[in-house]
Amino acid sequence: MKHKSIWKLAKRHKKRASRIAKETDVLIIGGGIAGMMTAYLLKDSGLKVALIDKGEIGNGVTSCSTGKLTYLQGNYRNIATTQSKEDAKLYLHSQREAIRLAKHIIKKENIDCNFEEVDSYLFSSNKSDEKELKKEAELLEYFGIPFLWMQDDDFILPATLAFKVEDTAVFHPVKFVKGIAAKCSNVEIIEYVTAKEITKHEDVFFVKTDHNLWKTKELIVTTHYPFFLFPGTIPFRTHLERSYLIASEVEETLPECGISVGKETLSYRFHKDDKNYLLFASESHKMTNHIDYEKRYDEMEEKFKAYFPYKMEYEWMTHDVVTDDSIPYIGMLKDHLFIATGFNKWGMTNGILAGKVISDLLLEGSSPYQKLLNPKRRQKLSTLLSKRSLSYLELSTLYVRTTLIKNHFFYRNAYVINENGTPYGIYIDEKGIEHKVYNKCPHMHCNLIFNSNDKTWDCPCHGSRFTVDGDLLQGPSTTSIKIKDK
Ligand SMILES: Cc1cc2nc3c(=O)[nH]c(=O)nc-3n(C[C@H](O)[C@H](O)[C@H](O)COP(=O)(O)OP(=O)(O)OC[C@H]3O[C@@H](n4cnc5c(N)ncnc54)[C@H](O)[C@@H]3O)c2cc1C
Repeated sequence: MKHKSIWKLAKRHKKRASRIAKETDVLIIGGGIAGMMTAYLLKDSGLKVALIDKGEIGNGVTSCSTGKLTYLQGNYRNIATTQSKEDAKLYLHSQREAIRLAKHIIKKENIDCNFEEVDSYLFSSNKSDEKELKKEAELLEYFGIPFLWMQDDDFILPATLAFKVEDTAVFHPVKFVKGIAAKCSNVEIIEYVTAKEITKHEDVFFVKTDHNLWKTKELIVTTHYPFFLFPGTIPFRTHLERSYLIASEVEETLPECGISVGKETLSYRFHKDDKNYLLFASESHKMTNHIDYEKRYDEMEEKFKAYFPYKMEYEWMTHDVVTDDSIPYIGMLKDHLFIATGFNKWGMTNGILAGKVISDLLLEGSSPYQKLLNPKRRQKLSTLLSKRSLSYLELSTLYVRTTLIKNHFFYRNAYVINENGTPYGIYIDEKGIEHKVYNKCPHMHCNLIFNSNDKTWDCPCHGSRFTVDGDLLQGPSTTSIKIKDK
């Protein structure tokens, strides 16, 4: 089995980035679906637009998603509780608008990204979750969205109850991002440049990167998770959830995708290309709750084998930023500084929406969704008490767990030692060679844990990832954990 996402394309050669300081009207940091959509929608604005990415565009979390474009996300009852029914309705409209926009752009630009209109199913995988499913159905009815209840024998997973909606789709997320990038000839796109620091003097932002300095009037941060704490204090208002995925070659595909409600998340879709695939995701958990990733992979494989007779070809894991009220943070964080994060595992639609909302705010001065998505919005006290306090408790437990255990072993080939109060992570490779790194995440100093499937050191608090030699793979950290950098 290959330990990588089915969407990841072969890496291109790095182009050497310029060391010369640059000036632009709009700088976008991060070329995932959110950043690239924003660039696409600003490309003909008459403004000088540039986009930088730490790696190759489209190769971040976007390249690890399931690639569904759906408004049937099983989260309307959360929004109705944490905010209001009207907010849930507006959120639904935003998701439908994002799907329509994606369809329109794909057609207009003739983007080859395996876009296929399919039905979306929501289902309960056991009797006790049926009540939750019915609540989602009641809300859809209230919103005036047509849906159809299904017989359980019509369904590919063992569902006790299910319903479906139309006007949803699936696509290849990386081909989509690369496709729109190819249409942005008047946007300067620079890859393999990491933004490290932002300062502002007299209405101008200065962005220090590992190569050069950028000067810009408008700054848009679409790095999945912001790499700064202030403004916004996003780490204190979100948590990360990790999920595990499998792709398996199949002969036939079905024009449908689905997700379960309730505690156990099961999700699937089909993908039609030169070969056909079934994608299956399960084992969603808060990053802080489990440090034994291997066990989660085993559990997902067991489930897959129980449900499907196919050979597993690819497996990978990824995480997304989850907000307390199930609504993303998209919009202006401070004068001329925009962000898009907290997509709650629905960043295909919300990344497209982010492009629309941010470009509308910049060009028109308003968006119908700006209040709903406002990154500075306050949470209800009840939400703060129930969700935030639990998150802090989990984070503290994790910190104690990964600090107090001396010489913590991670699946035979990696362990953590403490030398004179400094923690080091050591990985022994197949040839017996030792790879030693500093074992604290430079972002907010959480202890790192070893991910034996991907052979990476991962931060369970905010999701930064590093190679066994300490090179930075994924932020919010902007520096490596190589010992010489200590
Ligand atoms: C298991 C799973 C399945 C999912 N399936 C779906 C789905 O079916 N449908 C759906 O709608 N959503 C889905 N999602 C959610 C979706 O994948 C994400 O929300 C979305 O891809 C996030 O896009 P992004 O542009 O914010 O981030 P990214 O794609 O990660 O892009 C951010 C970019 O910023 C760059 N970057 C980071 N830091 C810096 C820096 N300091 N300097 C320069 N560049 C930087 C990175 O290199 C990266 O390219 C899923 C999520 C998970 C976890």
